[in-house]
Amino acid sequence: MAHVELKNLGKVYEGSSFAVKGVNIEIRDKEFVVLVGPSGCGKSTTLRMIAGLEEITEGDLFIDGKRVNDVSPKDRDIAMVFQNYALYPHMTVYENMAFGLKLRKLPKPEIKTRVSDAAAILGLTNYLDRKPKALSGGERQRVAVGRAIVRKPKVFLFDEPLSNLDAKLRVQMRTEITKLHLKLEATMIYVTHDQTEAMTMGDRIVVMKDGFVKQVNTPLNLYNNPENKFVAGFIGSPAMNFIEGVIKQSNGLYFESTNKSLSIKLEDMHADKLKNHINKNVWFGIRPEDIHDLVDTSLQTSFYEFDAKLEVVEPMGNEAFLYFNLDGTQFIARVPARDVPRPQSVRKLKLNKNKIYFFDYETERTII
Ligand code: ADP
Repeated sequence: MAHVELKNLGKVYEGSSFAVKGVNIEIRDKEFVVLVGPSGCGKSTTLRMIAGLEEITEGDLFIDGKRVNDVSPKDRDIAMVFQNYALYPHMTVYENMAFGLKLRKLPKPEIKTRVSDAAAILGLTNYLDRKPKALSGGERQRVAVGRAIVRKPKVFLFDEPLSNLDAKLRVQMRTEITKLHLKLEATMIYVTHDQTEAMTMGDRIVVMKDGFVKQVNTPLNLYNNPENKFVAGFIGSPAMNFIEGVIKQSNGLYFESTNKSLSIKLEDMHADKLKNHINKNVWFGIRPEDIHDLVDTSLQTSFYEFDAKLEVVEPMGNEAFLYFNLDGTQFIARVPARDVPRPQSVRKLKLNKNKIYFFDYETERTII
């Protein structure tokens, strides 16, 4: 059982302003929660406060209902896996995994059982006598995870554990960690700057920016119902397209982009939500996958069609990314690769009107 609660957590490093402020997150027992956001947004600081490696400036941290702000890291029953593995080069895999248990003076047979069990889970049984330099990057990372597993902690913390691996290995380790989570049924908190890792691994995702939490939800809820422009742009790849413009009223509501190259008559169902934004600036948003080049069933009748000159076409095999320019803003459409158009050709593109977003220009909060 491990339930972790962050209440109004904040951190000020000496001589600087807040690195993290007002963080409220409740992590349920056995949950896999991912902290994601751009570099410097405060993910590692938050994780390190949970681990006890960084003093908490304000707020409270509870593990299983007990306030642990002043409990030392070794007494928090937490194990952390770092980006740079930090294995001891002169020790074998077995010794690396056993090291922490020896320090805790566990009986030798108990250590042996725990290391063998962890090695079996991670497929390291045949590597126990090797030194780290005789292992691949992925194997080293598994040893680092093994060192955490043998401690049987209440909570696992991961700080960008896959960043040093090549792209293919990263994808493989991603699923290994997900499987491990299912097998161990442990509470895990995972930090990454990579939204794909967050989307594929997290039961829930905490999106952070500039030291603040911008939204906490399941991957699909973040994708479908972002609460603000930042989350809308951060979750999803390629990212959501944005363009600024004004909501106008004349015989119904329209959105008109600032340079007037996009003018869309809006559906009546949007009228209520937009009524306080008439003649005001807004951000319009649409995901690349909601711009189509052919009318397929998902579009039905509710689309806005326009001509776009394609600047760059990236064929991906099963799909293609079409780059075009609207009002000087680069837009991307993600379309199935049927007949991939040539760059510089003009294509009739269709925006799915059921998938459009609007954000307040000043607050960037989601209107629709
Ligand atoms: P992330 O993990 O999201 O990249 P960090 O938690 O490492 O972000 O950093 C958050 C902010 O705190 C950044 O502005 C960073 O420069 C600052 N920071 C991190 N560690 C220290 C430190 N030891 N001393 C002073 N400032 C720090």
